[in-house]
Amino acid sequence: MKKKFLAMLMASVMVLGLAACGGSPEPAADGGEGEGDGGALPTVGVLIYKYDDTYISTVRNALQAALDGKAEVIMQDGKGDQATQNDQLDVMIEKGVDVLCVNMVDAKAASGVVDKAKDAGIPTVFFNREPDTEVIKSYEKAVFIGTNAADAGKMQGDLVKKIFDEHPEYDLNGDGKVQYVMFQGEPDNPEAIARTQYSVEQAVENGVEMEQVGETQVCNWDTETAQKAMEAMLAANEGKIELVLANNDGMAIGCIAALSNIGYNTGAEGANFIPVIGVDATDAAKDAIQNGTMSATVLQDGQAMGNAIAAVALNLAGGADFLAGTDYSFDDTGVAVRIPYAPYEGE
Ligand code: CA
Repeated sequence: MKKKFLAMLMASVMVLGLAACGGSPEPAADGGEGEGDGGALPTVGVLIYKYDDTYISTVRNALQAALDGKAEVIMQDGKGDQATQNDQLDVMIEKGVDVLCVNMVDAKAASGVVDKAKDAGIPTVFFNREPDTEVIKSYEKAVFIGTNAADAGKMQGDLVKKIFDEHPEYDLNGDGKVQYVMFQGEPDNPEAIARTQYSVEQAVENGVEMEQVGETQVCNWDTETAQKAMEAMLAANEGKIELVLANNDGMAIGCIAALSNIGYNTGAEGANFIPVIGVDATDAAKDAIQNGTMSATVLQDGQAMGNAIAAVALNLAGGADFLAGTDYSFDDTGVAVRIPYAPYEGE
C-alpha cells in the first residue's frame, strides 16, 4: 500500500512538475497523506456492529461526514452477527485499507480482529463496544474510543435522586422506597452491566432506598422487545412500579409505549405517570421528554464520538501519533479515549 501510494505520489509530482514548470513540490517523503491531493486519499474501512441501532447511526453519520473529502470510506453492516463481520474484515484487509475502524459485534471476538490487523500491519481504531484492554495493548497500532461505562449509570442514579426529591408523589405507595424495574441491553455487554449496576448503586449512595420489582429484563437494546416485557411486567405488577430504569432510550421508549397503552405516561394533564430514565438522548427520547412522557436520559454524544474516531483514523492513515493535533487524551489504560456523558432532562 505504501509503495502504491508513493508511486501515485511520484506520478502526481511529475504531472505537477510539468504543469507548474519550476514549482518545487515537496519531496515524496512520508506525511501529507489525506490532505486531499487528488486521488491519494487514504482508505478507511469501517465495520459497524449493526446499522439498525439509533445511537450507532448517529456515530456513523458523524464519522462519514468528518471523513468526507479526507478519506475514501468503505463501510459495512455486521447485522449483529460476528461471523458476518469477520468475513467483512477479511475483505477489507484484502482490499488493503489504510486504517480499520471497528465497532465489534461481540467484543470478546476482538483478539481475532487484532491478530489479523496486526498481521496485515493495518492500524485499528476500536470504538463503542469495548474489547479487553489487554487485547488493545497486544497491538501497538490499536486504540479504543468509547465512553466511561460507569458514568452513564451514575448519572442515571443522580437523576433518580433529583426526580424523586422534586416529586415525592412519585412514591406511589408512600413507603419512602423506590420500587423500580430494570431493562438491560445485553447479558454480557460490559456497558450494559455497568449501567444496570451503577444506576442503582449511585441512587443508593445518594440516600434513595431502592427496591427492585421482578427480574432484570434483558431486551437486547430493542424497543419492541422491551415493550412486550414491560407489558408483562405491568400485567403482573400494575400500581407497584414507581420507576423504570433502562440501559438505553430504545428500550425506554418501548416501556413508555407499554405504559401509554394502559393510560400511563400519555403526556395528558392529570394522567398517571411513572418516571422513565434511559441513556443515549436519541431524537425519540428528546421528543418524549419534551412531550412529558419520559423523565430524563443521559446524553451519549454520537457526534463527538464520530468526530473523535475520524480524527484518530486520519492521524493513523498519515502515520502520525494517535492523538496528534487533537484535544483528546488517553485514560489511565494508556490505550483508550473516553468521550464524556451528560445528563439530559430537556432543553
Ligand atoms: Ca414506594
